[in-house]
Amino acid sequence: MLQCHVKGCDDSSKNFPLKLENCQLEEIEAERNNEFLVRMYPRVDWNALRTSCQQLGINKLPEEAPENIEDNEPVLEALHSLLLETNVLEGQMVCNGCGHIYPIRNSVPNMLLAEHEI
Ligand SMILES: [Zn+2]
Repeated sequence: MLQCHVKGCDDSSKNFPLKLENCQLEEIEAERNNEFLVRMYPRVDWNALRTSCQQLGINKLPEEAPENIEDNEPVLEALHSLLLETNVLEGQMVCNGCGHIYPIRNSVPNMLLAEHEI
């Protein structure tokens, strides 16, 4: 869910979200906290999240962002599983604008840029 920050790459229709490629996922166990999910929900960019999920081969989210998720059990469960229980172990994020590749190793995305890109 990150944005490209290569200098000059500022077309927001392309530099966000970064495209996830060749990702190896790990499922982790986390306790579900509905209050937390409801509080976080307004800050979720639904389309970006959906796109990222599809790139990971996960199709759990409805096309339209629901108005209210408080009583929406399938969406609460999907958000919990995606945001808190899905970990990208290895892979890469590619910018759709400039093509910059941000590698992910041991669950840590490397957002560092070469000097000429800053
Ligand atoms: Zn870029």
